Amino acid sequence: MATPWPDKPCPYCGLTITDLLLEMVPDAQQGSAEYRAINDRQPGGAITCAYCQGAVEYAANGEDLVQSIREPLRYSRPKCEDRAWRNAQVFLNQQDTDPEHGWRTTRAWPARCTATDMRRILRMRFRAEELEFLSAWAREERAVEPYILPAHRLQAAHQVRGIDLIRAIKAWARSEGRRDEDIFDLHANPNPVWPWPTPQELADRLVATGT
Ligand SMILES: [Zn+2]
Repeated sequence: MATPWPDKPCPYCGLTITDLLLEMVPDAQQGSAEYRAINDRQPGGAITCAYCQGAVEYAANGEDLVQSIREPLRYSRPKCEDRAWRNAQVFLNQQDTDPEHGWRTTRAWPARCTATDMRRILRMRFRAEELEFLSAWAREERAVEPYILPAHRLQAAHQVRGIDLIRAIKAWARSEGRRDEDIFDLHANPNPVWPWPTPQELADRLVATGT
């Protein structure tokens, strides 16, 4: 199973869509052919851009997002509200999150975080403990409420944006010639340690990944 993290611009509004948040689609629709197409990063299914609500679909190259004439899958409102509420609880510095409107800012999605899009992801080598953490964090991302899980609790404790971790994963995949979703099976430890001893070390890492 893939968690598509396109990290590509929306073909309508141009904002970078890092995470399609497929797990937020209602469970009843997760068996559909359209859902599987998006999950497999192939044409054949559309989902709404979280910024502008346009229907986007994967291009045939499995990388870019294009405009779609299909009826898009939409996010489950209860799921989004639950996650926005959880997100607001763990990222207390997000003043603009509330259960009614906050889902737009779920997992640090607001435009203020992504306006500087098209940033280059540089090649870099990762240490084993970094990969162990990123692997556990990525697996937790498939849960509807990841912020109650160990790696996400560490993320919250250190007030790091999810988009930064996703870009670190993509930087790893690119540097190793792997697919993003290969991170899931890289390690199996569900209780990783926080791999960056100082805030400065993490900041340097994020600079190196272009975030
Ligand atoms: Zn858009």
